Amino acid sequence: MIDLKRNTKGEYVEATGLISQKCRIYQPNQKDDFKISRSRFGEFKDCPRCFYLRLVKGLQSPGMPQFKLNELTDTLLKKEFDECRKIQKPHRKLIEDGLEHIVPYDAGITKIMNSKKEEKEWQIIDVWRESKNHGLKYKFKDTNIILQGGIDDVWLNTKTKELIVVDYKSQASPKKVSQDTYFDKSGYHGSYKTQLDFYAYLMKGMNLEYGISDDSYLYVVNGLDVEEGFNAEIKFSETLIHHKIETDYLDYEIQNMIETINTDKIPESNKSCKNCAYARQRSVIDTLGEIKKE
Ligand code: SF4
Repeated sequence: MIDLKRNTKGEYVEATGLISQKCRIYQPNQKDDFKISRSRFGEFKDCPRCFYLRLVKGLQSPGMPQFKLNELTDTLLKKEFDECRKIQKPHRKLIEDGLEHIVPYDAGITKIMNSKKEEKEWQIIDVWRESKNHGLKYKFKDTNIILQGGIDDVWLNTKTKELIVVDYKSQASPKKVSQDTYFDKSGYHGSYKTQLDFYAYLMKGMNLEYGISDDSYLYVVNGLDVEEGFNAEIKFSETLIHHKIETDYLDYEIQNMIETINTDKIPESNKSCKNCAYARQRSVIDTLGEIKKE
């Protein structure tokens, strides 16, 4: 896709292909703390080379358009669950599915300093949701790497007193969403399991007041193609997809990720990646001249 660089005023500016903020570039074996997000970890799993080129070499890959409709469904679901959180009642979908012993977790309030050095009160769940500056955080063992992730929701199993990791997912598919087939065929649905495991891993490391449940859920809303037509509204089905949390494998994978950025060796690429294939083909037929040195 074509991704044109603009400044904050919306004006086109020259794209350099490099990250401008040096603090977001990792120096192999650096001592200062460095944050790595859940999505970067996902990139490492898909292609260690791209992950390395971005984190260590500071290359900026073209962006993707923002999925505003998905964001909206997330926001609306968060509002619904926050209403239930205030009164500590189960959400209607959980009652419908016989899970009335599960309520949205109320982690309380904390104070956070904003960029103007003003202290503001935040709901802790909103701190955990905010992936840019806050989110769930856990410093990996005795390293300088802070793992981070913005979670959609955390529920409390009132019977077992365990916290449940939850992510909201929006999609539009003519196929019925079902537990039996959800993780079967689609590769990226499989990556949602890692996402849930990663959040559970962070929460385990944070030593919260309750333990972390082996049960986690995706709250999947599926846009339906209805006979009546659009009429300025989209109807959705709602399905809870269960995933049994596994976190043991993450220790090894995260260690591997950290070792990768602590070397000078650029890892192999993913042979299935269309972007790299495109770049290779393009370099054969298209020369854009010398790259300007910064
Ligand atoms: S194969 Fe190439 S373009 Fe694709 S993710 Fe890896 S380094 Fe990036």
